Amino acid sequence: MTVAPHSPLVLDSSFARELPEMAVPWQAEAAPDPRLLVLDEPLAAELGLDAAWLRSPDGVALLTGSGVPAGATPVAMAYAGHQFGGYSPRLGDGRALLLGELTDPAGRVHDLHLKGSGRTPFARGGDGLAAVGPMLREYVVSAAMAALGIPTTRSLAVVATGRTVRRETPLPGAVLARLAGSHLRVGSFQYAAASGDVALLRRLADVAIARHHPAAADAEQPYLALYEAVVTAQAQLVARWMQVGFVHGVLNTDNVTISGETIDYGPCAFLDAYDPATVYSSIDTGGRYAFGNQPVVTEWNLARLAEALLPLFADDQEAAVALAVPALERFRPQYGAAMIAGWAAKLGLPDGLDDAVAAQLVEDLLALLQADHVDLTSFCRALAGAGRGDVEGVRNLFLDLAGFDAWLASWRASGPDADAMDRVNPVYIPRNHLVEEALTAATDGDLDPLHRLLAVLADPFTPRPGLERYAAPAPVDFGAYRTFCGT
Ligand code: AMP
Ligand code: MG
Repeated sequence: MTVAPHSPLVLDSSFARELPEMAVPWQAEAAPDPRLLVLDEPLAAELGLDAAWLRSPDGVALLTGSGVPAGATPVAMAYAGHQFGGYSPRLGDGRALLLGELTDPAGRVHDLHLKGSGRTPFARGGDGLAAVGPMLREYVVSAAMAALGIPTTRSLAVVATGRTVRRETPLPGAVLARLAGSHLRVGSFQYAAASGDVALLRRLADVAIARHHPAAADAEQPYLALYEAVVTAQAQLVARWMQVGFVHGVLNTDNVTISGETIDYGPCAFLDAYDPATVYSSIDTGGRYAFGNQPVVTEWNLARLAEALLPLFADDQEAAVALAVPALERFRPQYGAAMIAGWAAKLGLPDGLDDAVAAQLVEDLLALLQADHVDLTSFCRALAGAGRGDVEGVRNLFLDLAGFDAWLASWRASGPDADAMDRVNPVYIPRNHLVEEALTAATDGDLDPLHRLLAVLADPFTPRPGLERYAAPAPVDFGAYRTFCGT
């Protein structure tokens, strides 16, 4: 590894220093012919990084891990995890590295992390690499989520490596550089708990409290308070996904953050037609991670976190469980409240409206959307149109006109605010056919569709003339959509 000679960047290695048992110092594989494909310049500015420098050979060396700032200690992070319900005691960063922690001008700390940077001791049978398409998918979808205001890791850049990656077909390789509040996951706690070293588990929990949930430090039971804070953060996160139609696709415990950020965009996709049974991932044959299962499976993942934390709740296991159970039971009401509040905003319902009335409106609406396979995103904007007098636009989306008219009458009776709706319901989401089109073109060397799509998604709430095709659902000939992990 060379040290970037003029790196203006300072990276801390607090994770490597404070949790050495969970950090294997490692270095990236050199990229034979690195070429920057895309860089998030506004994000770079937010981080206090100079975009021109990032585009320079030294900057690209940083973004592929071949040149890191003096004093940085890149590590592969250790974690465990339940994958599709089955426990793996040793997952870890098989093809990723934590370069270090970066403090932005506002004083916020971010992990700077690479994905696709070569094999590590956690690679098992994997090649340690990533292909251009899946890394750009993470870039596009995480950018869209950030613009929608949904907590997420951020993508700073994708660099094509010049190396060929063998999947079903040979593909161009790439490295993604991403930022996260941290990469602490449920699986990190499972790993520490499984080590049997309670002091390590406590150190990990202390790091999580300091970094993400500092108020827990002042609670009577800090570790229980940490757990409750994660439950709340995840309940709110999943409610946000459910309101925009986001399907994560691989909600294994290693892909559930302690911060409450969305992480690890693999076979993820957005719904067109509203249907809780929607599954896009080719490997999710049982539908474990179907759209409508996401709250239940998140609760399941949080139960695994509770199990890992039990030794910190109380010395006696029974007493620890007695504390964990009510803490986990907060998930359902918190998720329910976040859903009602979120949908009340999407439907423009007035503040004073009775919760039970709002809940009934939402429940009835979702049943209608599902029964008639209505496009979720178009519906919400068209409904605001109905609030301003254009009822036909939204009515055209339904087959069950009697059912919809009855619902519309009760919605109108609540006194909705159409303009407020337009501030929370996106016009543009990363629709699957558009993402696919952009990734296919980029893999073949044409970055224009990708840049056009990114520009649209950067401002999801403002309809712009000429962008009608980005607001429309997939054409019928797009067919049933399948996503692949790209591993
Ligand atoms: P993910 O599906 O990206 O969340 O990864 C799940 C686990 O598999 C993690 O431990 C990854 O580091 C590992 N992994 C995924 N793809 C590869 C690869 N191509 N080479 C090595 N490890 C991988
Ligand atoms: Mg993962």
